[in-house]
Amino acid sequence: MVTGRVHSVESCGTFDGPGIRFIVFMQGCLMRCKYCHNRDSWDEDAGDEMTVEQVLEQVRPYKHFFKSSGGGITVSGGEPILQAEFVTALFTACKQEGIHTTLDTNGFIRGQDEKMDALMQVTDLVLLDLKQIQDKIHIDLTKVSNRYALSFARHLQKINKPVWIRYVIVPGYTDDQLSAQLLAEFLHPMDNVVHIELLPYHSIGAYKWQQYGDTYELAHIHPPSQLTMQQLKKTFNIYGLKVVL
Ligand code: SF4
Repeated sequence: MVTGRVHSVESCGTFDGPGIRFIVFMQGCLMRCKYCHNRDSWDEDAGDEMTVEQVLEQVRPYKHFFKSSGGGITVSGGEPILQAEFVTALFTACKQEGIHTTLDTNGFIRGQDEKMDALMQVTDLVLLDLKQIQDKIHIDLTKVSNRYALSFARHLQKINKPVWIRYVIVPGYTDDQLSAQLLAEFLHPMDNVVHIELLPYHSIGAYKWQQYGDTYELAHIHPPSQLTMQQLKKTFNIYGLKVVL
């Protein structure tokens, strides 16, 4: 029986996908984003081991909320693709019960390509975090290359999977016009991209780094200004991309 390691769950989320969502945060992530607010989700061996049925038992009581709001289940992380087999089994069971499925991922699918086909067949919507289009800055920000995430984005275009792009605006790393313009040029031809969410950087999870004895490098960085957010929105709009702030 396939099991997954679950970091935590949230019963009535309204942020990670359409409508009211039951959110399952999976344990484990291979990126090392400097602004990570889920530092405690990195370790693949931590969290609680759960079966699909154990998760579903918690999801079912909210089905009427899903129906009335157009919601469903969202699996997030950490990085859920690291447990692709479990998420596929969970989404398959959800689809059998008429529950809308959303995958919130950083797209770092290195070595997982074959498993992704099965997962995408039972995924209604992908929330894809694109951290930075310029790879040198991406590596500085996350410790890994962006080529896997960009390749996954192109694959989602090919299979015409609905995608919401998420782009965190981190002053000094992703708030420049050139990066926004290059990302807009990349996304512009993708008809499957429903919209882009521009998310202002925050340091809410910094305390978790201290709990692990790690240095939170961005402690001196403040959230971007409203003006910066509006200027970046305009850049994406120029390319005909819908932006959600
Ligand atoms: S991808 Fe998400 S969970 Fe992983 S390090 Fe980055 S912010 Fe943290």
